[in-house]
Amino acid sequence: MKLCDIEKCTGCGACVNICPKKAIAMAETDTGKTVWSIDETQCVECGMCEKTCPVLNSSDFNEPIKTLAAWTLNEKDQQTCASGGIATALYKVVLEKNGTIYGCDYDSELKPVIRGYEDTSDLEKFKSSKYVQSITGFSYQQVKEDLNNGRMVLYIGTPCQIDGLQHFLGKKYSNLYTVDIICHGVPPYKYFQEYIASLGFKEKITSVAFRGKRDFCLSLYNEENLIYWRYSDFDYYYLSFLRGIIYRDNCYECRYAKKDRISDITIGDFWGLDKKTLQKPYDGRISTILVNTSKGQELLDMAVNHIYVEERLLDEALKYNEQLNHPMVVHEDREIFLNNLDKGVYKALCSTRTGKEITRKRIKNKVRKLLGRS
Ligand SMILES: Cc1cc2nc3c(=O)[nH]c(=O)nc-3n(C[C@H](O)[C@H](O)[C@H](O)COP(=O)(O)OP(=O)(O)OC[C@H]3O[C@@H](n4cnc5c(N)ncnc54)[C@H](O)[C@@H]3O)c2cc1C
Repeated sequence: MKLCDIEKCTGCGACVNICPKKAIAMAETDTGKTVWSIDETQCVECGMCEKTCPVLNSSDFNEPIKTLAAWTLNEKDQQTCASGGIATALYKVVLEKNGTIYGCDYDSELKPVIRGYEDTSDLEKFKSSKYVQSITGFSYQQVKEDLNNGRMVLYIGTPCQIDGLQHFLGKKYSNLYTVDIICHGVPPYKYFQEYIASLGFKEKITSVAFRGKRDFCLSLYNEENLIYWRYSDFDYYYLSFLRGIIYRDNCYECRYAKKDRISDITIGDFWGLDKKTLQKPYDGRISTILVNTSKGQELLDMAVNHIYVEERLLDEALKYNEQLNHPMVVHEDREIFLNNLDKGVYKALCSTRTGKEITRKRIKNKVRKLLGRS
């Protein structure tokens, strides 16, 4: 059986979920990328995987019908969510209707995984951005089961994951709502895992945050104790992520990084929004919502008690959000990073111009502190 070229595989997992013989798994390449692999001894050549792969088959894109600036009305969520708290607000709507919510959580090894929950006590797990590739596992199969049991389902993920789900399902379900996050790319889990390990903490790191309360700061916790925090400009992994140095190769050719969208609703940060032009003054984090289908509007209408929205022009969202126009441009440091990867992720990150810039800034800060100037 031949699936898509490994270089083009997004790791969405549609093939893993569809295979009736469980012959397909997601395997890691030498550089840590998660891609398909087939156990030929189990394969019965049914061709389901080939027919389901989003890379080998066409996808339905929708032009946004409405653009909104929006934020959650819940004050706690305004502090703790990644952006305007839209994902969390939409999850609440679906839970109120006894539905199942799917999103990205960490497993016990801090690997981001897509899971389904049915209880409000689980909401916190999905909050905030995990700047690492998340693994879909068998979540598409669980979604199908929920849908066939008549449950309302909300699935939020990266655009490639939503496309994988839609190809796996193969038909429209009136009880399924999909939301994709605007995504500039995801680093392989291996990079993140090695980086965290290289920081050398004796305590087990039990949770991680990139956005939220300490926004754009990498925060590592042992239970309730904060044991490491650095603003993105001072953290090797974080700044390399933001600058587009460490993504999976095919993120730089992402076919979802455009105006037309794959899901019912698209959410992201409303970069560049002139807050002075808002009808309602607001100083917190503001999301952009692209309503792409009538189902998206239907879901949003249900969230009226959870989210404040103002209509804006699509051009405003497109102007500052590069990934609504084109995939992330490969950063000049990427080659240096990849060439040094055999020395380990930490050394490879430090060896780039970005890494050296961070080291200089850290030394400067230390000297300032020693001299008593903060
Ligand atoms: C890797 C990545 C890259 C991004 N790039 C951009 C960008 O270029 N431009 C932009 O405007 N916005 C980007 N975002 C989206 C933005 O940062 C917010 O995540 C988004 O607006 C949702 O904010 P919220 O407050 O509504 O979410 P919250 O209410 O805090 O909930 C977070 C949501 O994000 C999902 N999520 C978090 N991490 C992952 C992951 N690794 N894989 C799949 N789903 C995940 C959770 O399941 C949940 O649904 C990116 C997010 C991620 C994870």
